[in-house]
Amino acid sequence: MGQTSQQIIDQTQEYGAKNYHPLPVVISKADGVWVEDPEGNRYMDMLSAYSAVNQGHRHPQIIKALKDQADRLTLTSRAFHNDQLGPWFEKICKLTNKEMVLPMNTGAEAVETAIKAARRWAYDVKGVAENKAEIIACEGNFHGRTMTAVSLSSEAEYKRGFGPMLPGIKIIPYGDAEALKAAINENTAGFLFEPIQGEAGIVIPPDGFLQEAYQICKENNVLYIADEIQSGLARTGKMFACDWENVTPDVQILGKALGGGVFPISCVVANKDILGVFNPGSHGSTFGGNPLACAVSIAALDVLEEENLADRSLELGTYMMNELKSIPNPKIKEVRGKGLFIGVELTEPARPYCEALKEKGLLCKETHENVIRFAPPLIIKQEDLKWAVSHIKEVLTP
Ligand code: PLP
Repeated sequence: MGQTSQQIIDQTQEYGAKNYHPLPVVISKADGVWVEDPEGNRYMDMLSAYSAVNQGHRHPQIIKALKDQADRLTLTSRAFHNDQLGPWFEKICKLTNKEMVLPMNTGAEAVETAIKAARRWAYDVKGVAENKAEIIACEGNFHGRTMTAVSLSSEAEYKRGFGPMLPGIKIIPYGDAEALKAAINENTAGFLFEPIQGEAGIVIPPDGFLQEAYQICKENNVLYIADEIQSGLARTGKMFACDWENVTPDVQILGKALGGGVFPISCVVANKDILGVFNPGSHGSTFGGNPLACAVSIAALDVLEEENLADRSLELGTYMMNELKSIPNPKIKEVRGKGLFIGVELTEPARPYCEALKEKGLLCKETHENVIRFAPPLIIKQEDLKWAVSHIKEVLTP
């Protein structure tokens, strides 16, 4: 045998920057919803790499696309065309009902791109005075870790020691339409939000907020920018979380499951009047839109559609939520979610519960101290979910 889990953990601790606090488990193999450590212990993945593995680990159709493409062409840069980018662009536009796509690699880069698009749109189209454009974001948001993304954040710890922050950002309470109205002025370029806040602890805005905010943005010529990186692509029981209120954002940001848990790919999608503000030289990425990522992403989107993963998420998520709600424990403050995107908020830290769940063979991660997030791959079988629920009940029942 190669290294043990403990040796790998020690090595990781010794040489790696300490910007994460992972559970003490090493994963060396995975298939579907199951992962395995070097000692052969099996666990069920209830996190799906923060919803990047919606299609399940190593989905055969996605792996085949990866291998086939790797045998032909992997990278051209955008200095030349590649034969996978056009088909992928068209697929994304048809899926989102939009006219244009700009490809990047990670979620944070796509958020950067959306902010650049909104700012330039404000100057070139809306007519905002130079360097005055403002973005409105929400308290508790998570849009990534780059300087723009942390500038958008309301979390002191995400920003500490990284100043100066990007100017031109206003923060309003999440889900507060009146605050949105009050924050808008003639310089407002866009309103950026997550339709469900994932990292904040699966926080769902009041019913009607997505619609109301959309109307407010329309009335004020403000771009309505949805970060669907975590909530999109079938996770909440609809293809996009904004579908729950039948709103089509002006700008949509996608990532994570767009690459089927296999290859990083992200994008910004909008109509030509918005994404058309970019010209050659104004934005780009060496790896953005590479043929390997595009081929994988086409397969990843096919799997979401062919296996009806949005419907599956809704059906299984409803079952799971009802089961979790039935647990009689005064330390459970709230069980909330949509589809298989579920948070259990406790009155005390969630980490010990995640550690206890790991001992039962279930991997999940606390978010924001008191919330356990459950987001299994959407291909999970009913019987596997039943097994998971029975163990969660054992750990959460006093
Ligand atoms: N936006 C949202 C809503 C996210 O949940 C995340 C990641 O968790 C990001 C952006 C950042 O994505 P990435 O980690 O790929 O940069």
